[in-house]
Amino acid sequence: MQIGIIGGGAAGMTAAITAARAGAEVTVYEKMDRVGKKLLATGNGRCNISNEHMELFHFHGASPDFIRKVMEAVPPEETRAFWESLGLILVSQEGRLYPMSLQASGVLDALRLEMERLGVRVRCGEEVTRVVPVKRSFRLEGADGQEKGRFSRVIITAGGKASPQFGADGDGQRLAASLGHTVVPLRPALVKLKCRSPYLKALSGCKVEARATLLQGDEVLAQEWGEVLFTPEGLSGPPILRLSREALVSGRRCSIALNLMEHMREGECYWWLKQRAERFGYMKVQEMLGGVLHKRLILPMLKETDIPPQTPSERLSKQQIQALSRILQWWTFPVLGDGGWREAQVTVGGVFTGEIDPTTMQSKKKTGIYWAGEVLDVDGDCGGYNLQWAASSGILAGRSAAG
Ligand SMILES: Cc1cc2nc3c(=O)[nH]c(=O)nc-3n(C[C@H](O)[C@H](O)[C@H](O)COP(=O)(O)OP(=O)(O)OC[C@H]3O[C@@H](n4cnc5c(N)ncnc54)[C@H](O)[C@@H]3O)c2cc1C
Repeated sequence: MQIGIIGGGAAGMTAAITAARAGAEVTVYEKMDRVGKKLLATGNGRCNISNEHMELFHFHGASPDFIRKVMEAVPPEETRAFWESLGLILVSQEGRLYPMSLQASGVLDALRLEMERLGVRVRCGEEVTRVVPVKRSFRLEGADGQEKGRFSRVIITAGGKASPQFGADGDGQRLAASLGHTVVPLRPALVKLKCRSPYLKALSGCKVEARATLLQGDEVLAQEWGEVLFTPEGLSGPPILRLSREALVSGRRCSIALNLMEHMREGECYWWLKQRAERFGYMKVQEMLGGVLHKRLILPMLKETDIPPQTPSERLSKQQIQALSRILQWWTFPVLGDGGWREAQVTVGGVFTGEIDPTTMQSKKKTGIYWAGEVLDVDGDCGGYNLQWAASSGILAGRSAAG
Protein backbone atom coordinates (compact mmCIF):
# COMPACT_ATOMS: atom_id res chain seq x y z
CA MET A 1 0.00 0.00 0.00
CA GLN A 2 1.39 3.42 -0.97
CA ILE A 3 0.28 6.20 1.30
CA GLY A 4 0.88 9.93 0.93
CA ILE A 5 0.53 12.09 4.04
CA ILE A 6 -0.02 15.85 3.77
CA GLY A 7 1.39 17.59 6.86
CA GLY A 8 4.26 16.50 9.13
CA GLY A 9 2.82 17.55 12.50
CA ALA A 10 1.93 15.32 15.44
CA ALA A 11 -1.02 13.73 13.63
CA GLY A 12 0.90 13.20 10.37
CA MET A 13 3.91 11.62 12.08
CA THR A 14 1.88 9.29 14.31
CA ALA A 15 -0.12 8.25 11.22
CA ALA A 16 3.09 7.73 9.21
CA ILE A 17 4.72 5.52 11.85
CA THR A 18 1.58 3.45 12.41
CA ALA A 19 1.05 2.90 8.67
CA ALA A 20 4.72 2.06 8.06
CA ARG A 21 4.73 -0.39 10.98
CA ALA A 22 1.76 -2.10 9.31
CA GLY A 23 3.84 -2.51 6.17
CA ALA A 24 2.77 0.48 4.05
CA GLU A 25 5.15 2.53 1.94
CA VAL A 26 4.73 6.03 3.33
CA THR A 27 5.71 9.50 2.07
CA VAL A 28 5.12 12.59 4.24
CA TYR A 29 4.89 16.03 2.58
CA GLU A 30 5.65 18.96 4.87
CA LYS A 31 5.61 22.50 3.59
CA MET A 32 7.97 23.90 6.23
CA ASP A 33 11.71 23.26 6.14
CA ARG A 34 11.33 20.63 8.85
CA VAL A 35 8.60 18.51 10.40
CA GLY A 36 7.03 19.11 13.80
CA LYS A 37 7.63 22.86 14.22
CA LYS A 38 4.46 23.29 16.26
CA LEU A 39 5.27 20.26 18.40
CA LEU A 40 8.49 22.00 19.49
CA ALA A 41 6.47 24.94 20.83
CA THR A 42 4.00 22.85 22.83
CA GLY A 43 3.77 23.10 26.59
CA ASN A 44 6.31 25.97 26.60
CA GLY A 45 8.81 23.66 24.93
CA ARG A 46 8.06 20.83 27.37
CA CYS A 47 5.31 19.11 25.35
CA ASN A 48 2.23 18.41 27.45
CA ILE A 49 1.49 15.26 25.46
CA SER A 50 -1.62 13.95 27.22
CA ASN A 51 -3.51 13.95 30.50
CA GLU A 52 -4.42 11.37 33.12
CA HIS A 53 -7.98 12.69 33.14
CA MET A 54 -9.29 11.91 29.70
CA GLU A 55 -13.02 12.55 30.15
CA LEU A 56 -14.79 13.36 26.90
CA PHE A 57 -15.98 16.76 28.12
CA HIS A 58 -12.43 18.01 27.56
CA PHE A 59 -13.01 17.72 23.80
CA HIS A 60 -15.23 19.98 21.70
CA GLY A 61 -16.71 19.94 18.23
CA ALA A 62 -19.96 19.58 16.44
CA SER A 63 -20.27 15.85 17.14
CA PRO A 64 -19.38 14.47 20.61
CA ASP A 65 -20.35 11.01 19.37
CA PHE A 66 -17.67 11.14 16.68
CA ILE A 67 -15.01 12.08 19.24
CA ARG A 68 -16.15 9.29 21.58
CA LYS A 69 -15.88 6.66 18.85
CA VAL A 70 -12.39 7.75 17.82
CA MET A 71 -11.22 7.80 21.45
CA GLU A 72 -12.67 4.32 21.93
CA ALA A 73 -10.90 3.04 18.82
CA VAL A 74 -7.53 4.39 20.00
CA PRO A 75 -7.79 5.04 23.76
CA PRO A 76 -5.17 6.89 25.86
CA GLU A 77 -3.58 3.58 26.95
CA GLU A 78 -2.82 2.85 23.31
CA THR A 79 -1.32 6.25 22.60
CA ARG A 80 0.77 5.94 25.76
CA ALA A 81 2.03 2.57 24.55
CA PHE A 82 2.78 4.23 21.21
CA TRP A 83 4.93 6.92 22.85
CA GLU A 84 6.66 4.27 24.97
CA SER A 85 7.36 2.23 21.83
CA LEU A 86 9.45 5.21 20.64
CA GLY A 87 11.53 5.04 23.81
CA LEU A 88 9.77 7.87 25.65
CA ILE A 89 8.72 7.70 29.29
CA LEU A 90 5.75 9.82 30.31
CA VAL A 91 5.56 11.49 33.70
CA SER A 92 2.62 13.20 35.36
CA GLN A 93 2.60 16.71 36.78
CA GLU A 94 -0.75 17.19 38.49
CA GLY A 95 -2.38 14.96 35.89
CA ARG A 96 -0.69 16.51 32.87
CA LEU A 97 1.56 14.06 31.06
CA TYR A 98 4.96 15.13 29.76
CA PRO A 99 8.00 13.29 28.40
CA MET A 100 10.36 12.57 31.31
CA SER A 101 12.99 14.81 29.68
CA LEU A 102 10.47 17.69 29.78
CA GLN A 103 11.64 18.49 26.27
CA ALA A 104 9.42 18.70 23.21
CA SER A 105 12.55 18.34 21.09
CA GLY A 106 13.04 14.86 22.57
CA VAL A 107 9.56 13.85 21.41
CA LEU A 108 10.22 15.18 17.92
CA ASP A 109 13.59 13.39 17.76
CA ALA A 110 11.92 10.12 18.77
CA LEU A 111 9.29 10.50 16.05
CA ARG A 112 11.87 11.40 13.40
CA LEU A 113 14.16 8.52 14.36
CA GLU A 114 11.34 6.01 14.12
CA MET A 115 10.21 7.34 10.74
CA GLU A 116 13.77 7.04 9.51
CA ARG A 117 14.11 3.50 10.89
CA LEU A 118 10.90 2.46 9.14
CA GLY A 119 11.95 4.02 5.83
CA VAL A 120 9.24 6.70 5.79
CA ARG A 121 10.15 9.26 3.10
CA VAL A 122 9.93 12.77 4.51
CA ARG A 123 9.76 15.57 1.93
CA CYS A 124 10.20 18.95 3.63
CA GLY A 125 9.65 22.26 1.87
CA GLU A 126 6.95 20.56 -0.22
CA GLU A 127 3.53 22.17 -0.13
CA VAL A 128 0.64 20.14 -1.50
CA THR A 129 -2.07 22.38 -2.89
CA ARG A 130 -4.26 19.88 -4.78
CA VAL A 131 -5.35 16.31 -4.36
CA VAL A 132 -6.58 15.02 -7.72
CA PRO A 133 -8.45 11.70 -7.86
CA VAL A 134 -7.11 9.67 -10.80
CA LYS A 135 -8.82 6.31 -11.36
CA ARG A 136 -8.16 4.39 -8.14
CA SER A 137 -5.40 6.64 -6.88
CA PHE A 138 -4.67 10.26 -6.03
CA ARG A 139 -2.19 12.64 -7.58
CA LEU A 140 -0.70 15.19 -5.19
CA GLU A 141 0.20 18.51 -6.81
CA GLY A 142 2.08 21.62 -5.78
CA ALA A 143 1.14 25.23 -6.54
CA ASP A 144 2.89 25.03 -9.94
CA GLY A 145 0.62 22.12 -10.92
CA GLN A 146 3.61 19.76 -10.85
CA GLU A 147 2.90 16.21 -9.71
CA LYS A 148 4.60 15.39 -6.41
CA GLY A 149 3.51 11.77 -6.24
CA ARG A 150 0.69 9.27 -6.75
CA PHE A 151 -0.78 7.25 -3.93
CA SER A 152 -3.53 4.73 -3.49
CA ARG A 153 -4.41 6.36 -0.15
CA VAL A 154 -3.90 9.84 1.20
CA ILE A 155 -4.02 10.99 4.83
CA ILE A 156 -4.60 14.72 5.28
CA THR A 157 -3.11 16.04 8.53
CA ALA A 158 -2.49 19.65 7.50
CA GLY A 159 -3.70 21.12 10.82
CA GLY A 160 -5.89 24.15 11.40
CA LYS A 161 -5.08 27.86 11.33
CA ALA A 162 -3.77 28.50 14.82
CA SER A 163 -0.18 29.83 15.05
CA PRO A 164 0.42 29.91 11.27
CA GLN A 165 4.09 30.73 11.96
CA PHE A 166 4.51 26.98 12.60
CA GLY A 167 3.06 26.00 9.22
CA ALA A 168 -0.64 25.20 9.32
CA ASP A 169 -2.73 28.05 7.94
CA GLY A 170 -5.96 26.61 6.64
CA ASP A 171 -4.63 24.55 3.68
CA GLY A 172 -6.25 21.43 5.08
CA GLN A 173 -9.68 23.01 5.12
CA ARG A 174 -9.13 24.36 1.56
CA LEU A 175 -8.19 20.86 0.41
CA ALA A 176 -11.29 19.52 2.18
CA ALA A 177 -13.58 21.96 0.37
CA SER A 178 -12.00 21.03 -2.97
CA LEU A 179 -12.69 17.36 -2.22
CA GLY A 180 -16.37 18.05 -1.55
CA HIS A 181 -16.22 18.25 2.26
CA THR A 182 -18.12 20.72 4.41
CA VAL A 183 -15.95 22.95 6.58
CA VAL A 184 -17.24 24.24 9.92
CA PRO A 185 -16.11 27.91 10.17
CA LEU A 186 -12.75 28.36 11.87
CA ARG A 187 -12.08 30.44 14.99
CA PRO A 188 -9.03 30.78 17.20
CA ALA A 189 -9.12 29.31 20.73
CA LEU A 190 -6.76 28.91 23.67
CA VAL A 191 -5.86 32.48 22.86
CA LYS A 192 -5.37 35.70 24.74
CA LEU A 193 -8.35 38.03 24.86
CA LYS A 194 -8.57 41.62 23.69
CA CYS A 195 -10.23 43.68 26.39
CA ARG A 196 -11.34 47.25 26.92
CA SER A 197 -9.57 49.19 29.64
CA PRO A 198 -7.68 52.50 29.68
CA TYR A 199 -5.02 50.95 31.94
CA LEU A 200 -3.74 48.12 29.74
CA LYS A 201 -0.71 49.97 28.36
CA ALA A 202 0.38 50.91 31.90
CA LEU A 203 -0.19 47.36 33.16
CA SER A 204 1.33 45.53 30.19
CA GLY A 205 3.75 42.81 31.29
CA CYS A 206 2.37 42.63 34.84
CA LYS A 207 1.57 39.15 36.14
CA VAL A 208 -0.85 38.49 39.00
CA GLU A 209 -2.18 35.36 40.66
CA ALA A 210 -5.95 35.69 40.39
CA ARG A 211 -9.23 33.92 39.98
CA ALA A 212 -10.59 34.95 36.57
CA THR A 213 -14.36 34.80 36.19
CA LEU A 214 -16.02 34.87 32.79
CA LEU A 215 -19.23 36.85 33.09
CA GLN A 216 -22.13 37.63 30.84
CA GLY A 217 -23.89 40.45 32.63
CA ASP A 218 -24.12 39.10 36.17
CA GLU A 219 -24.18 35.46 35.10
CA VAL A 220 -21.01 33.49 35.86
CA LEU A 221 -20.14 31.37 32.80
CA ALA A 222 -16.86 29.88 34.02
CA GLN A 223 -14.00 30.43 36.44
CA GLU A 224 -10.30 29.62 36.29
CA TRP A 225 -7.42 30.30 38.64
CA GLY A 226 -3.76 30.99 37.90
CA GLU A 227 -1.30 33.56 36.66
CA VAL A 228 -2.95 36.30 34.62
CA LEU A 229 -0.77 38.40 32.36
CA PHE A 230 -1.69 41.94 31.28
CA THR A 231 -0.85 42.68 27.64
CA PRO A 232 -1.03 46.02 25.79
CA GLU A 233 -4.39 44.99 24.35
CA GLY A 234 -5.93 42.69 26.91
CA LEU A 235 -5.40 39.69 29.16
CA SER A 236 -3.44 36.49 28.75
CA GLY A 237 -1.97 33.69 30.86
CA PRO A 238 -3.23 30.14 31.47
CA PRO A 239 -6.61 30.99 33.11
CA ILE A 240 -7.48 33.42 30.32
CA LEU A 241 -6.54 30.92 27.59
CA ARG A 242 -8.73 28.34 29.28
CA LEU A 243 -11.67 30.77 29.36
CA SER A 244 -11.14 31.97 25.79
CA ARG A 245 -13.09 29.23 24.04
CA GLU A 246 -16.25 29.91 25.97
CA ALA A 247 -15.77 33.68 25.74
CA LEU A 248 -15.39 33.61 21.96
CA VAL A 249 -17.50 30.71 20.75
CA SER A 250 -20.65 31.87 22.48
CA GLY A 251 -20.46 35.11 20.48
CA ARG A 252 -21.99 36.83 23.50
CA ARG A 253 -20.83 39.97 25.17
CA CYS A 254 -18.67 38.84 28.02
CA SER A 255 -16.27 40.30 30.51
CA ILE A 256 -13.50 38.93 32.68
CA ALA A 257 -13.51 39.81 36.38
CA LEU A 258 -10.25 39.35 38.28
CA ASN A 259 -10.24 38.50 41.96
CA LEU A 260 -6.85 39.36 43.43
CA MET A 261 -7.96 38.51 46.99
CA GLU A 262 -9.26 35.08 46.22
CA HIS A 263 -8.58 33.73 49.69
CA MET A 264 -11.09 36.16 51.29
CA ARG A 265 -14.85 36.15 51.18
CA GLU A 266 -16.43 39.35 49.88
CA GLY A 267 -17.31 41.02 53.22
CA GLU A 268 -13.97 39.93 54.68
CA CYS A 269 -12.01 41.94 52.18
CA TYR A 270 -13.79 45.13 53.23
CA TRP A 271 -13.06 44.59 56.95
CA TRP A 272 -9.47 43.61 56.26
CA LEU A 273 -8.92 46.81 54.24
CA LYS A 274 -10.65 48.94 56.91
CA GLN A 275 -8.40 47.51 59.64
CA ARG A 276 -5.34 48.01 57.48
CA ALA A 277 -6.32 51.63 56.77
CA GLU A 278 -6.68 52.23 60.53
CA ARG A 279 -3.44 50.51 61.49
CA PHE A 280 -1.45 52.28 58.79
CA GLY A 281 -3.48 55.48 58.95
CA TYR A 282 -0.31 57.56 58.71
CA MET A 283 0.46 56.13 55.25
CA LYS A 284 -0.90 57.49 51.97
CA VAL A 285 -3.35 55.01 50.46
CA GLN A 286 -0.87 54.35 47.66
CA GLU A 287 1.73 53.30 50.26
CA MET A 288 -0.75 51.33 52.33
CA LEU A 289 -1.54 49.15 49.29
CA GLY A 290 2.16 48.82 48.48
CA GLY A 291 2.80 45.86 50.75
CA VAL A 292 -0.09 43.95 49.24
CA LEU A 293 -0.27 44.59 45.50
CA HIS A 294 2.06 44.58 42.53
CA LYS A 295 3.27 48.22 42.42
CA ARG A 296 2.06 48.81 38.88
CA LEU A 297 -1.49 47.84 39.75
CA ILE A 298 -1.92 50.48 42.44
CA LEU A 299 -2.29 53.71 40.46
CA PRO A 300 -4.69 52.24 37.86
CA MET A 301 -6.82 50.81 40.67
CA LEU A 302 -6.91 54.10 42.53
CA LYS A 303 -7.74 55.93 39.31
CA GLU A 304 -10.54 53.49 38.55
CA THR A 305 -12.00 53.98 42.04
CA ASP A 306 -11.48 57.75 41.90
CA ILE A 307 -9.30 57.84 45.04
CA PRO A 308 -6.41 60.34 44.99
CA PRO A 309 -3.19 58.34 45.65
CA GLN A 310 -2.00 60.87 48.22
CA THR A 311 -5.08 60.41 50.44
CA PRO A 312 -4.00 59.53 54.01
CA SER A 313 -5.32 56.05 54.77
CA GLU A 314 -7.00 57.27 58.00
CA ARG A 315 -9.13 59.65 55.89
CA LEU A 316 -10.52 56.96 53.58
CA SER A 317 -14.32 57.03 53.65
CA LYS A 318 -16.50 53.94 53.96
CA GLN A 319 -17.47 54.31 50.27
CA GLN A 320 -13.82 54.52 49.24
CA ILE A 321 -12.91 51.39 51.19
CA GLN A 322 -15.92 49.62 49.69
CA ALA A 323 -14.86 50.69 46.18
CA LEU A 324 -11.31 49.46 46.81
CA SER A 325 -12.39 46.12 48.19
CA ARG A 326 -14.77 45.71 45.24
CA ILE A 327 -12.06 46.35 42.66
CA LEU A 328 -9.64 44.02 44.46
CA GLN A 329 -12.16 41.22 44.06
CA TRP A 330 -14.10 42.22 40.91
CA TRP A 331 -11.82 44.15 38.59
CA THR A 332 -13.79 43.81 35.40
CA PHE A 333 -12.55 43.95 31.80
CA PRO A 334 -15.08 43.79 28.93
CA VAL A 335 -13.95 41.31 26.24
CA LEU A 336 -13.65 42.80 22.75
CA GLY A 337 -12.42 39.74 20.86
CA ASP A 338 -9.54 37.32 20.42
CA GLY A 339 -5.84 38.09 20.24
CA GLY A 340 -5.53 36.81 16.65
CA TRP A 341 -4.48 33.60 14.91
CA ARG A 342 -0.75 34.05 15.56
CA GLU A 343 -1.37 33.88 19.30
CA ALA A 344 -3.87 31.01 19.23
CA GLN A 345 -2.89 27.51 20.29
CA VAL A 346 -5.78 25.72 18.66
CA THR A 347 -8.48 25.99 16.00
CA VAL A 348 -12.19 25.67 16.67
CA GLY A 349 -14.05 24.32 13.62
CA GLY A 350 -12.58 22.43 10.65
CA VAL A 351 -13.58 19.53 8.44
CA PHE A 352 -17.12 18.46 9.36
CA THR A 353 -16.85 15.14 11.19
CA GLY A 354 -20.28 13.94 10.03
CA GLU A 355 -18.60 13.23 6.66
CA ILE A 356 -15.90 11.00 8.17
CA ASP A 357 -16.15 7.43 9.46
CA PRO A 358 -15.02 7.54 13.13
CA THR A 359 -14.00 3.88 13.09
CA THR A 360 -11.43 4.43 10.31
CA MET A 361 -11.06 8.23 9.78
CA GLN A 362 -11.86 7.60 6.12
CA SER A 363 -13.80 10.23 4.20
CA LYS A 364 -17.40 9.30 3.42
CA LYS A 365 -17.10 11.62 0.40
CA LYS A 366 -13.96 10.18 -1.20
CA THR A 367 -12.90 6.62 -0.57
CA GLY A 368 -9.15 6.46 -0.03
CA ILE A 369 -8.87 9.86 1.69
CA TYR A 370 -8.31 9.87 5.47
CA TRP A 371 -8.23 12.75 7.96
CA ALA A 372 -6.63 13.26 11.38
CA GLY A 373 -5.66 15.93 13.88
CA GLU A 374 -6.54 19.58 14.15
CA VAL A 375 -7.68 19.79 10.52
CA LEU A 376 -10.96 18.30 11.80
CA ASP A 377 -13.75 20.06 13.69
CA VAL A 378 -12.40 18.87 17.06
CA ASP A 379 -10.50 20.87 19.65
CA GLY A 380 -9.46 20.05 23.17
CA ASP A 381 -8.99 21.92 26.42
CA CYS A 382 -5.60 23.14 27.54
CA GLY A 383 -3.75 20.29 29.31
CA GLY A 384 -2.58 17.79 26.68
CA TYR A 385 -5.94 17.13 25.05
CA ASN A 386 -5.01 18.47 21.63
CA LEU A 387 -1.93 16.31 21.29
CA GLN A 388 -3.98 13.38 22.56
CA TRP A 389 -6.48 14.05 19.76
CA ALA A 390 -3.68 14.33 17.19
CA ALA A 391 -2.23 10.99 18.34
CA SER A 392 -5.50 9.04 18.69
CA SER A 393 -6.85 10.19 15.33
CA GLY A 394 -3.42 9.94 13.65
CA ILE A 395 -2.84 6.36 14.80
CA LEU A 396 -6.37 5.38 13.72
CA ALA A 397 -5.96 6.97 10.27
CA GLY A 398 -2.54 5.36 9.77
CA ARG A 399 -3.77 1.94 10.85
CA SER A 400 -6.89 2.09 8.66
CA ALA A 401 -5.17 3.48 5.56
CA ALA A 402 -2.54 0.73 5.73
CA GLY A 403 -5.13 -2.00 6.23
C1 LIG B 1 2.22 27.48 21.25
C2 LIG B 1 1.41 26.21 21.28
C3 LIG B 1 1.48 25.39 22.39
C4 LIG B 1 0.69 24.23 22.45
N1 LIG B 1 0.84 23.41 23.53
C5 LIG B 1 0.14 22.25 23.57
C6 LIG B 1 0.33 21.33 24.63
O1 LIG B 1 1.21 21.49 25.48
N2 LIG B 1 -0.45 20.21 24.65
C7 LIG B 1 -1.38 19.95 23.69
O2 LIG B 1 -2.06 18.93 23.76
N3 LIG B 1 -1.55 20.78 22.64
C8 LIG B 1 -0.81 21.90 22.54
N4 LIG B 1 -0.96 22.74 21.47
C9 LIG B 1 -1.88 22.33 20.38
C10 LIG B 1 -1.23 21.20 19.54
O3 LIG B 1 0.11 21.53 19.31
C11 LIG B 1 -1.94 21.00 18.21
O4 LIG B 1 -3.31 20.82 18.38
C12 LIG B 1 -1.37 19.77 17.49
O5 LIG B 1 0.02 19.89 17.34
C13 LIG B 1 -2.02 19.60 16.13
O6 LIG B 1 -1.33 18.61 15.41
P1 LIG B 1 -1.63 18.41 13.87
O7 LIG B 1 -0.60 17.44 13.39
O8 LIG B 1 -3.05 18.11 13.65
O9 LIG B 1 -1.37 19.84 13.20
P2 LIG B 1 -0.02 20.68 13.10
O10 LIG B 1 0.88 20.39 14.21
O11 LIG B 1 -0.43 22.07 12.86
O12 LIG B 1 0.67 20.06 11.80
C14 LIG B 1 0.21 20.30 10.51
C15 LIG B 1 1.41 20.29 9.59
O13 LIG B 1 0.96 20.33 8.24
C16 LIG B 1 1.81 21.18 7.51
N5 LIG B 1 1.07 21.64 6.34
C17 LIG B 1 -0.01 22.45 6.32
N6 LIG B 1 -0.45 22.62 5.06
C18 LIG B 1 0.35 21.88 4.28
C19 LIG B 1 0.41 21.66 2.87
N7 LIG B 1 -0.46 22.25 2.03
N8 LIG B 1 1.38 20.86 2.36
C20 LIG B 1 2.29 20.28 3.21
N9 LIG B 1 2.29 20.47 4.53
C21 LIG B 1 1.33 21.25 5.07
C22 LIG B 1 2.15 22.27 8.49
O14 LIG B 1 3.33 22.97 8.11
C23 LIG B 1 2.29 21.51 9.79
O15 LIG B 1 3.61 21.08 10.03
C24 LIG B 1 -0.19 23.89 21.37
C25 LIG B 1 -0.22 24.71 20.25
C26 LIG B 1 0.56 25.87 20.19
C27 LIG B 1 0.50 26.73 18.96
